[in-house]
Amino acid sequence: METLAQQLTPTGLPHPLLVQVARRAVAEGAAAGDPGSIPGRAGELAEREQRRLLQPVVNATGVLLHTNLGRAPLAVARPAGYTNLELDLSTGRRGDRSSHSAALLALACGAEAALVVNNGASALYLALSALSALSAGSEAIVSRGELVEIGGGFRIPDVMAASGARLVEVGTTNRTRRGDYESAIGPETSILLKVHTSNYRMTGFVADVAVRDLAAMVGARDDIAVVVDIGSGLVDSECPWLAGGPPRWLRSEPAVRQTIAAGADLVTFSTDKLLGGPQGGVIAGRTDLVERCARHALARVVRAGGLVLEALQDVALSYLRRDAGRVLPLWRMATASVDELAHRAEAVSPGPRWAITECESVMGGGTLPDVTIPSAGLAAIGDVTGALRSCATPVVAHLVDGSTVCDMRTVFPEQDEQLARALKGVSGS
Ligand SMILES: *Cc1c(COP(=O)(O)O)cnc(C)c1O
Repeated sequence: METLAQQLTPTGLPHPLLVQVARRAVAEGAAAGDPGSIPGRAGELAEREQRRLLQPVVNATGVLLHTNLGRAPLAVARPAGYTNLELDLSTGRRGDRSSHSAALLALACGAEAALVVNNGASALYLALSALSALSAGSEAIVSRGELVEIGGGFRIPDVMAASGARLVEVGTTNRTRRGDYESAIGPETSILLKVHTSNYRMTGFVADVAVRDLAAMVGARDDIAVVVDIGSGLVDSECPWLAGGPPRWLRSEPAVRQTIAAGADLVTFSTDKLLGGPQGGVIAGRTDLVERCARHALARVVRAGGLVLEALQDVALSYLRRDAGRVLPLWRMATASVDELAHRAEAVSPGPRWAITECESVMGGGTLPDVTIPSAGLAAIGDVTGALRSCATPVVAHLVDGSTVCDMRTVFPEQDEQLARALKGVSGS
């Protein structure tokens, strides 16, 4: 066993992992009565272990926020070292880990205050938990048209049940009116929850109630909060960080700034969708309610780590400087021109098998479900997606009508050469 493991050392995998691989190969060889197969099988298993490790890939799918590829891409490079994560440098006393990234995000979104947590799901979970006892009861009123499943098993009714909020459904699947909420509001109501149906669209005979109207219904009552889960974390629908203003494909997406301006008391969203940052979640809005969330016992359970907060601070600063369109890879990729992408495709193509093609990118990650972004890429007849995935730097492409398509929009220009090598490698197949 030891010898076999030693032989696998050139793979670079640590010894305990190689021993595990050797054991499995020996057991399989013994079961098959074929000891000669063991070394070869051990090599295969070691390679499989290596490919299981987290590693850089080329995203040629054209899906900008690909859930399987980690949603928004973000560069993080920092040397080992301490930060003033919870130290107030001016007083020398214990500080607050929300005082940097969260405060900057709040400013960028036009919110009084914000809290950063582990992801969008925990942001909503914490907000519901902390606000469910605002009134005498714990009722949270939601439209039946917004009782959605986001993906990865995140279902609004389940999250509400777990948070202790008592779900009160109003309206119907396709239509909910102001009167539906009005007749449901009572002394036990703590929350009016609005959820952006981020991953599907309903069209036809549909109606929902705008945040502005929900806020008007609550008026000056301080025992009811309007909480809006907008999901994607688009900071501002005017996109002041994009030289050309908001792209057409962004039109129907709710933004944090406008949702707060419309009267939402709290807005929750992910930081790795249209915000373009690392995995995280934000609760933004009224100071007293954000503080209530921060004081809740769950806040400690779902708090974000120092690395994430540091990365988010950079993201927030880029929105405040209005250069997020150039600094954040998500926006750079999303707004690259089709001409530019076609030129890169031409340079990458290893020969006539890979033809320049028009294609369509999508935002993905459960956002903008009915929107495509015109793009350019390379296409080859037949399915070589498996071969591309097994390249030294795995290339993830997609299959369209029997052709393998590599969309250039989601490929970093620095990866063009790697992509060219990979395409060349599979060209002969
Ligand atoms: C994505 C999304 C969530 C979940 O956010 P995660 O960061 O994936 O936990 C919740 N609500 C809406 C509306 C979403 O779009």
